[in-house]
Amino acid sequence: MPMQREDILRLLEQVGAIRQGHFELSSGRHSGTYIQCALVLQHPQHADELGRSLAGLFGNLAVGCVVSPALGGIVIGYEVARFLGVRSLFAERDRSGQMALRRGFELKPGERVLVIEDVWTTGGSTRETIGVVEQEGGLAVAAGALIDRSGGRLELNVPSRALLEMDVPSWEPDDCPLCRAGGAPTRPGSRFSRVHP
Ligand SMILES: [Zn+2]
Repeated sequence: MPMQREDILRLLEQVGAIRQGHFELSSGRHSGTYIQCALVLQHPQHADELGRSLAGLFGNLAVGCVVSPALGGIVIGYEVARFLGVRSLFAERDRSGQMALRRGFELKPGERVLVIEDVWTTGGSTRETIGVVEQEGGLAVAAGALIDRSGGRLELNVPSRALLEMDVPSWEPDDCPLCRAGGAPTRPGSRFSRVHP
């Protein structure tokens, strides 16, 4: 049985992966809610269950491999690939800051690719990864994420599905009501990175 929305929400809360406060997200936007999927994916049995459920949304796509943006997408991309029975690659930034396939990862010409990420806020990393796939001669046929927190604002040029859709507001820093109220945001990515280097 694939996990239901309520099961996933309860699980994320149980492991402390959903936090309330004032945060600067990796996209640069501010939000009162932060979702750290690493805190749920650190448990292999949860990663297995989530990967199986997410893979279930793409079971008929006949892809040759999964490509994920590092670092956040690697674990869940790997689990999805396991259930689809295909390779799992990841894209990462090179020295110039461009997303690229490194480590000898290669796509076959025209290879059908599923792009998997953990959380979509703006979908920027997934968009860049789709660009990498095309540049490397592959064909991005769909994109998936554990959580879409864009509130329907996501714009990708391939069909996309998320396991959990959350309408969590986020703002450009200039429009952030929490900043206007006088608070300073924390960068949870770096704060959590001390716990999960
Ligand atoms: Zn703010």
